[in-house]
Amino acid sequence: MALIFENESTCSICNLILNKSRPYTMFPPFMGNKKDPMFIFSDNGIHNDCLNNHPFGKMALLYREKYHEDIGRLQFKKIEDLKKCIPFGLLTSDLKEDLSKFNFLTLGEDDLKSWKEKDEFVNIVRRFIQEGKWEGLTEFNYLDYLISKVTK
Ligand SMILES: [Zn+2]
Repeated sequence: MALIFENESTCSICNLILNKSRPYTMFPPFMGNKKDPMFIFSDNGIHNDCLNNHPFGKMALLYREKYHEDIGRLQFKKIEDLKKCIPFGLLTSDLKEDLSKFNFLTLGEDDLKSWKEKDEFVNIVRRFIQEGKWEGLTEFNYLDYLISKVTK
């Protein structure tokens, strides 16, 4: 969950300080793409009324729920299995994007050899990057990382 310092951290929608005077909601880091409409919510605290008035507020709550379900599933795995596991997380909130069918997919490294959609996934990801639709927080590109994980 986002790390919030009351009276210091600000709401990522209205930029005003977060404290007990106005109820707010916290979001985990569930979107690493600056160009995705979900990015403004990711790893942030947001006033409840700002969230309710935002056109993507409902969607953000839905993806937060899916993110927690996804994390919840992983918690039941053994450490040994987790190390061999590739959780994709939320790749795009735009369900018109082909990439969206891979949202929240979790692959075991042992599944990779028989994963029939691997080539399709790699092509879709490469196209997504080429079209300039992904901008990470840092130089580290999560999509490149996923390609290297699934093709090694
Ligand atoms: Zn606000």
